[in-house]
Amino acid sequence: MKPDQNDGSGSRRSLALDTRLVTGGRDPFAHFGFVNPPVYHGSTVLYPTAADMVAHRARYVYGRRGTPTSEALESALRDLEGPQCAGVALMPSGLSAIATALLAVTNSGDHVLVSDSVYRPTRTFCDSVLKRFGVETTYYDPLIGADIATLFRPSTRAVFVESPGSQTFEMQDVPAIAAVAHARGAVVLADNTWATPIYFRPLEKGVDLAIQAGTKYIAGHSDVMLGTVSANAALWPRLKETVMQMGVCVGPDDIYLALRGLRTMGVRLRRHQESGLKIARWLAERPEVLRVLHPGLETDPGYAIWRRDFSGASGLFSVILKPAPQEAVYAFLDSLTLFGMGFSWGGYESLVVWFDCSSYRTATRWNPGGPALRFHIGLEDPDDLVADLEQAFAKLRAASSSADGAPQNATDAPP
Ligand SMILES: *Cc1c(COP(=O)(O)O)cnc(C)c1O
Repeated sequence: MKPDQNDGSGSRRSLALDTRLVTGGRDPFAHFGFVNPPVYHGSTVLYPTAADMVAHRARYVYGRRGTPTSEALESALRDLEGPQCAGVALMPSGLSAIATALLAVTNSGDHVLVSDSVYRPTRTFCDSVLKRFGVETTYYDPLIGADIATLFRPSTRAVFVESPGSQTFEMQDVPAIAAVAHARGAVVLADNTWATPIYFRPLEKGVDLAIQAGTKYIAGHSDVMLGTVSANAALWPRLKETVMQMGVCVGPDDIYLALRGLRTMGVRLRRHQESGLKIARWLAERPEVLRVLHPGLETDPGYAIWRRDFSGASGLFSVILKPAPQEAVYAFLDSLTLFGMGFSWGGYESLVVWFDCSSYRTATRWNPGGPALRFHIGLEDPDDLVADLEQAFAKLRAASSSADGAPQNATDAPP
């Protein structure tokens, strides 16, 4: 049995995603039958003869330029993105994947359009490095759809989408935006960390470069930093060249952990989805809750687009509480025992952060009407999570009735 050669041949394409997650990027009988590919630690690669060296005749030439270990993960990921994917580049973090992808498609004097709801460090990169290099950014309302045409200039080279948006979960009409961009000669980049290619395949919807923070669901265990960029055939040469020129690469042990995470990503995501929806619905009924921001809920404004373009939801969503004093929100958060407070998400464990994006969004106004909490629902038993939330709401109510302070919002300072 040689399940994988990942040559893009039709036979693998007919396999279901779960099967491809299990079989992708490995060839046991190339490694004495061991199920998992070996981890190659290497910088120098030796040539057997002077003639080989002079002619660069070698399958691998230098650690930074690729190893059997990096190729195994790249090939497994390429397999998930669909037939439009011509290549995948691995990066040391999600943010480095975003930065490298943006640098690959822009030149000095260009203009880029970036959703107002992007991951905040994406915005910081545009406002610092891109700006210094003479690339101008305009932020747009994530709900703009085909009207994004009105923001195009002759110099507009790229549109960056993130759907659903970071923290606030607005769904974007990616196919409509991509159609407008392509008609004007611009390329489309998507941060697809929330859905992963298991629930949304951007390259099939007109995106040219699809980015993931592999730190989240691919790794899945809160123990690895990783980024990935998947390119279509038009963009792959430019992306690959930029990656080589920038010198970014990932250590083999991190790649190995990511490959290990990938094997279970399908079952993990189904559980994140199921528990996430269950808890989102439970939260929506709570008297302390104003609204829940989860595109997989029928009542969500993004539901129609999510239904049309996505095949599932992951475990990350937000909740707006009714106005409450700061100490009551602190009492709620501090009494949770199964929800850790910390940045990042996508691991097996549940998390919560108090956020406020009102200070930095510029194309839209974030005015939620109460404290905003982002939850990541992990793989714990959802009934235990509900019980934990229930006791925390009791603390919130007790602290609200004893407090006389004015309602407060979080100060936002993500990494
Ligand atoms: C976490 C995150 C990133 C950045 O990934 P890192 O690996 O932490 O650099 C990018 N985009 C989104 C949507 C994220 O949530």
